Amino acid sequence: MTNATSTIGRRGLMLVMSSPSGAGKTTITRALLQRDAGITMSISATTRAPRPGEVDGKDYFFVPVEKFQGWVRDGQFLEHAKVFDNYYGTPKGPVEDVLRQGRDVLFDIDWQGTQQVRDTARADLVSVFVLPPSVAELERRLHTRAQDSAEVVAKRMAKAGDEMSHWPEYDYIIVNDDLERSIASVQAILTAERLKRERQVGMHDFVSRLRGME
Ligand code: 5GP
Repeated sequence: MTNATSTIGRRGLMLVMSSPSGAGKTTITRALLQRDAGITMSISATTRAPRPGEVDGKDYFFVPVEKFQGWVRDGQFLEHAKVFDNYYGTPKGPVEDVLRQGRDVLFDIDWQGTQQVRDTARADLVSVFVLPPSVAELERRLHTRAQDSAEVVAKRMAKAGDEMSHWPEYDYIIVNDDLERSIASVQAILTAERLKRERQVGMHDFVSRLRGME
């Protein structure tokens, strides 16, 4: 078997995953990153305080509001939004670097950010919305996470309905009632989306060579 196909250039895609918090999205994205070497996580900037165990530069870039606003003014974000009481944004530079290398980028952003990415880069966007199997399960997951205060959990539950109303704006919907199946679903989406003709920018030359035209 030859590995000729590995030389076919490919255009990187942006895989956006959104969900109400507690639907299990973070667990799915972590597993995906471990199992797929071709995708890189986009690290967002946020003005929220780190949770116990969160590392600056790994989970988020934790920045003061003034710095965040400066980055907004300088046009350094691909998208940004206020979620709950804090600001979140995706720094543009690292995303562009990864895409240029023909690699894919994974985003954990909310529906507001997804709309902005859709407006600026529809062709490169693949969006997935993750739903919990039930409200009871969503609440249970938020409580067992145990990193947030009861007040924060209540606030997130109250906002979950609003967030979930945006599911029709996404390309794919996953109801996360079985973690392994959900991970496999995202992997299947990624596999199929990578094979899309318009992303295989090196295919023209490859087929020309197959046909003996070069
Ligand atoms: P958390 O505070 O639980 O880490 O994240 C809260 C929400 O903010 C999640 O829905 C997450 O998807 C969203 N979020 C995280 N980073 C970004 C970002 O860079 N942009 C946008 N628009 N939303 C984000």
